[in-house]
Amino acid sequence: MQFSDLGLVAELLRAVEEQGYSTPTPIQEQAIPPILQGQDVMAGAQTGTGKTAAFTLPTLQRLKPHASTSVSPARHPVRALILTPTRELAAQVYESVRDYSKHIPLRSACVYGGVNIDPQIAELRAGIEILVATPGRLLDHVHQRTVNLGQVEIFILDEADRMLDMGFMPDIKRIAALLPAKRQNLMFSATFPDDIKRLADQILKDPVRLQIARRNTVAELVTHSAYKVDPLRKQELLSNLIRSRDIKQVLVFTSTKISANRLARQLERAGFNCAAQHSDKSQQERTAALAAFKEGKVQVLVATDVAARGLDIEHLPLVINYELPPNPDDYIHRIGRTGRAGMAGEAISLVAPDEREALASIEKLIKMSIPIQPTPESDFRPPEASPRRREHGHKRTRDTSRASSRSAQSSLAVSAIESSLAESSSSMDALYVASAERAITPPAANVERRPRQVAALFLPPVTAKQD
Ligand code: AMP
Repeated sequence: MQFSDLGLVAELLRAVEEQGYSTPTPIQEQAIPPILQGQDVMAGAQTGTGKTAAFTLPTLQRLKPHASTSVSPARHPVRALILTPTRELAAQVYESVRDYSKHIPLRSACVYGGVNIDPQIAELRAGIEILVATPGRLLDHVHQRTVNLGQVEIFILDEADRMLDMGFMPDIKRIAALLPAKRQNLMFSATFPDDIKRLADQILKDPVRLQIARRNTVAELVTHSAYKVDPLRKQELLSNLIRSRDIKQVLVFTSTKISANRLARQLERAGFNCAAQHSDKSQQERTAALAAFKEGKVQVLVATDVAARGLDIEHLPLVINYELPPNPDDYIHRIGRTGRAGMAGEAISLVAPDEREALASIEKLIKMSIPIQPTPESDFRPPEASPRRREHGHKRTRDTSRASSRSAQSSLAVSAIESSLAESSSSMDALYVASAERAITPPAANVERRPRQVAALFLPPVTAKQD
């Protein structure tokens, strides 16, 4: 099928061509015709499927009769409202709206929190037809009476499941109550838990239901694998994976802001160019870090689920789950950052013993078993090899070289244990024993030299509220 078979007008076909898209994706093929006809749509489509164009292109076409070059704000009321859960996704959707509307004089704006509200007010006052917004900032504008939603004709909820996870349900209801009753509603969600179905029942009227990937599945072009690793050895394994595979760009997920910050610091110390992305960072920091990552100036972006939601990074080859998400649905969202738009991608998970259940839940959800990779012995180099240590000019003392040879011997012993265990049993428990043994017997010299770090490693896990 071609884009021209979908009934899109010439201006949109031209814009699509300029984006370099040759054929529509399945969600575009299925969603564009009913949206053009004015029907409500509820679509199960994960990120990376081309869903933004699937709702933006027909929205632009439906609004085309209102397109006007008039400077009067009254000629440009908000006619389409696109709600997204995060600022990053809002910015990305807005970029797509701009790209696709290049040849139609419809105006658009994007409002989200964490940045100065005044320029947004100025844009809204000048008049725009398409508004991309996060719920909180949109309500700020509503309260300040800087936006009027009384003429909205098309209401789009993007990544609805994440909106609910983030507690936006009351905001969404408040916003929906401000819209005209007669309108077209489109809801896109990667997953369909029961609350989403209930929300859909409240908002959508007799919707066309589309399910693009199988329910709760991940992009087929992504290969999955996992390493079983003691939590104390995760950072080392991660560093070695990045180095040994000469990885130029990797997105690493942690489950909390605290561990994102901590890991980013550790990786910086290990010599990587790295940034952390989470909701405690200012919007400017988040935008700058993402831009630097996209441009290849930052090699490792450590992110929490919220901050990484909706990120569209072209050709991102690899996502690493440093910590598995507590909610298995988030695995699908994380993995959706790679393997986008027909490109191959890879997802690696570092699984600690207490994350086995989380791994099992993920496997159940995605209906596939994730192969466990053997942990290469080289991934467990003793910490004194780190660049920082060299930088500080530490010379090897007799004690450390003894410690190293002890460590080498114990590594050999551990390898032997591992191979015999691997031969006799592939059970995860058995292999954890080997790696845990190694982790809790660091060379004596390391303990002396890095008292703070080692002490920190043995502290009980920090439980922080997930952002
Ligand atoms: P989305 O799922 O909307 O986040 O889109 C994921 C990526 O797919 C974006 O980088 C889009 O530019 C790209 N994309 C959207 N539609 C197509 C298409 N028909 N052909 C190729 N790439 C596309």
